[in-house]
Amino acid sequence: MKPALMVVVLGLLLLSTVISVRTFRFRSRQLLVTPIPHREIGDRMRIAERLAGALQFETVTGGSGAVFLELHRYLEETFPLVQGTLTRETVGEYSLLYTWRGSEAPARPILLLAHLDVVPVEPGTAADWTYPPFAGRVADGFIWGRGALDVKVGVVGILEAVEALLRDGFRPRRTIYLAFGHDEESGGREGAARIATLLRSRGIELDYVLDEGLAITDGIVPGVSRPVALVGLAEKGKVALELTARARGGHASMPHLPTAIGILGAAIQKLERRQPAARLAGATRQLFEYVGPEMSRAKRTAFANLWLFEWLAVRKLVACPETNALVRTTVATTMINGGVEEDLVPTVARAVVNVRILPGDSIAGVVAHLRRVIDDGRVSVELLDHSAFEPSTVSDVESESFAALQRTIQEVFPGVIVAPSLALARTDARHYESLAANSYRFLPMRVTADDLRRVHGTDERIAVDNYEEIVRFYARLIRNSAGT
Ligand SMILES: [Zn+2]
Repeated sequence: MKPALMVVVLGLLLLSTVISVRTFRFRSRQLLVTPIPHREIGDRMRIAERLAGALQFETVTGGSGAVFLELHRYLEETFPLVQGTLTRETVGEYSLLYTWRGSEAPARPILLLAHLDVVPVEPGTAADWTYPPFAGRVADGFIWGRGALDVKVGVVGILEAVEALLRDGFRPRRTIYLAFGHDEESGGREGAARIATLLRSRGIELDYVLDEGLAITDGIVPGVSRPVALVGLAEKGKVALELTARARGGHASMPHLPTAIGILGAAIQKLERRQPAARLAGATRQLFEYVGPEMSRAKRTAFANLWLFEWLAVRKLVACPETNALVRTTVATTMINGGVEEDLVPTVARAVVNVRILPGDSIAGVVAHLRRVIDDGRVSVELLDHSAFEPSTVSDVESESFAALQRTIQEVFPGVIVAPSLALARTDARHYESLAANSYRFLPMRVTADDLRRVHGTDERIAVDNYEEIVRFYARLIRNSAGT
């Protein structure tokens, strides 16, 4: 054999050995746990009725404060042990903070989050609902109504779990806070932000925060046949920017070209063609480290050898909008405006660009990217900063709290794969970020692609069976995190 050929053969042999060894070592990250027996948390239909009752309060974000106060009273009467044992404070007029004092003072507290407000029903769609959106019905195996998924299921589910633990005589080792904001859907400035300020003023440092955000998905994670519980370790940031193009206007009979609209159009096209670079990093990389070992052999080999196949994985992920959003900062033009008269060339044209920022990137970096890509002195790029926020930090998947969360999910949902991930939507958790060592975004609703459109949409509902699991999940999590 010629020496050159020998080198090639040896090289290939070495390569295939490395790939095989890495694939062999790419073991499942699932824990070995025994499912917990169905612990009695109470009559499941009564539990379902109590959630349905809470759905009857039309606590629409920014709506009548009186309705929020009525909901407070309902929770007070429905969960008497919670009311009698925990301290309850009203913050920002309509948000609630509960404190369940732990027996060991030095243990760092935990915080469970949800929100009392719901989005309104889109005008003209109320009649499309199987049951009226604020009727709060239990029927056909489901609890129906606005808030059944987002997220009175969390508020009432957490309180139901605490009530059951109190009935059992459970006492937490560490302090547990429950915080329910009243304006999450509009950014949480009056609710979550104020509760966070209050906790900070008391010098409280949290072990972890658990908020809504991701769920147990079925048939949504590609390549995995079993349901996957996605736990959000981080969430994307967001910024809106205004592009303004200026040019000479005048009568359309003798136009000066290019027009402001043409210049703006070219700028938008550049932004669509040159999106920020994609990368498999942070929480998204962790996702594939957890689901990869559960995939078919070919995919498992690829994810076990990202040092070699990362480019291939990224190419597949960017091909579909849902997974593209997990690997890059996305840029989309959402509004455009220019011109007032059909025969008049305008001097100004404007567009709004909505950017969702991957952890690791920043608002300043986004502005620089836009200016660099547009590269046109006739187009200005300005921040519309009324709703901007930076991406969150990425929580630690090796922490004790993540392990407790994973153990709890596997105990209550046998057969479900647990994986960290990146949340694409904003949650109240970011207001508490600086107070907590780790923040997770997960509520164990079982969702299919069909259920996702019910969130903020028509016929929002949750299965009675699933709601019972959710209550058991919160009770078990408190035992695992704060039991002795
Ligand atoms: Zn929500």
